[in-house]
Amino acid sequence: MSTLDPEDWTELRAIGHRMMDDMIDRLAGIDSAPVWRKLPDAVRHGFGAPMPETGKGLAAAYAEFLARIAPYASGNIHPRFMGWVQGGGNPAGMLAELLAGGLNENCGGRDHVGLEVERQVIAWSAAMLGLPEATGGLMVTGSSIANFIALVCARRRHCGLAVRHSGTAGRKLVGYAQDGVHRCVPGAFDMAGLGSFALRRVGTDAAGRIDAASLDAMIVADRAAGLEPFFLVGTAGSVDIGAVDDLAGLAAIAARQGLWFHVDGAFGALLAVSETRRALLDGIERADSVAFDFHKWAQVQYDSGCILVRERQWMLDSFAQDASYLTNTARGLAGGAPWPCDMGPDLSRGFRALKVWMTIETYGAARLGAIVDRSCDLAQRLAARIAATPILVLMAPVALNIVCFRVEDGGAALDDLNADIAADLQEDGRFVVSTTVIGGKRVLRAAIVNHRTSERDVDDLVDAVVAAATDRRG
Ligand SMILES: *Cc1c(COP(=O)(O)O)cnc(C)c1O
Repeated sequence: MSTLDPEDWTELRAIGHRMMDDMIDRLAGIDSAPVWRKLPDAVRHGFGAPMPETGKGLAAAYAEFLARIAPYASGNIHPRFMGWVQGGGNPAGMLAELLAGGLNENCGGRDHVGLEVERQVIAWSAAMLGLPEATGGLMVTGSSIANFIALVCARRRHCGLAVRHSGTAGRKLVGYAQDGVHRCVPGAFDMAGLGSFALRRVGTDAAGRIDAASLDAMIVADRAAGLEPFFLVGTAGSVDIGAVDDLAGLAAIAARQGLWFHVDGAFGALLAVSETRRALLDGIERADSVAFDFHKWAQVQYDSGCILVRERQWMLDSFAQDASYLTNTARGLAGGAPWPCDMGPDLSRGFRALKVWMTIETYGAARLGAIVDRSCDLAQRLAARIAATPILVLMAPVALNIVCFRVEDGGAALDDLNADIAADLQEDGRFVVSTTVIGGKRVLRAAIVNHRTSERDVDDLVDAVVAAATDRRG
């Protein structure tokens, strides 16, 4: 057999229909499934098998999927998954993944429809945030790489073209972000060769927002010490507690100090489609760049991150490479410049934009905004339930959709107790909540992101935590 296509398409059709039915059934019945199941050792070891020389056929491979893969997914599609800031996916996005696979577009460049769909998603995103029409952007894996791309553009603007050939040549570039900044931002400084220490952490107020006076003082002192401030990151939705920096205040500081103003809005940028909380983002329209994810609050399937850069030219100036076989032409399939491969680090790129486009075409921005609002309302409900429960204490203000709390029952070893409760709930499959450290104390963290999460889920979580605490203390 010389091709991978079947001689008779009937069987493929039947298996394809079954796969679709099975996945739709899974979604329809998700409420009654456990959130997460630990992978049994035997199943885990099965993935150590050598590469098969001879294939067993699609029907057998699919049977393996059903037995060994599907039952052990991480559970983020489940309404009771509140462990981390992860989206629940959606039916239209799920089917769009099949359609994208069918077309198998390479969206690195050339003149075809995949690039236009992506350009539309970028234009929608820019308009959503109040950025100008000329804004450039790309669909990327996630905010981690989006933050990195922004940093590389800012470095290019600050240092000029020479930085692309000679590096920063001993110059001491520094950037600023609040102390609750996501770890991928210092990670981006590391990857860009600036070193993670070149990201200076600025203290926050009681609400977890960057302290503007300390920031200003730090920039002035750094300059006086011979450092070169060039990059300021505002956080819209901090990962631990959901705090949103005063973006308008930061935009003003960046303008006055001549810094590139970047916003890490990984999930918080979706506040832009909320009817009631849009104002939290005031000032984002003045950003030089914004990183955010469709795979979190916008409920699109993984992975679907996005980078927007106010002046597209900085992306081209930072990433375009010369290669004669990639030269674009005025006519034919090699037209359609500028190409995404000249605006970011990837050459070959999948059709990520399709699942975003399909999700937004299907549900519309208002419905996504209502989900954002509902998550925040559920977080307030959870906070109120915690306040009304004697052994539970709220450990951070609830600005958005993240609730940090812990059991304080008068007993000892509270850090261990709370960590054990999180693990107990995960292992018995009822809830996934995570833990984090706030003020030196281990706390439980519920991030409400999934569009399937309801009032009942939140109420039951409180009861489950209290019951788990009681079980542990005997
Ligand atoms: C999730 C998150 C990131 C990282 O995004 P990925 O899509 O996981 O790469 C960065 N910043 C914040 C604030 C986040 O919540």
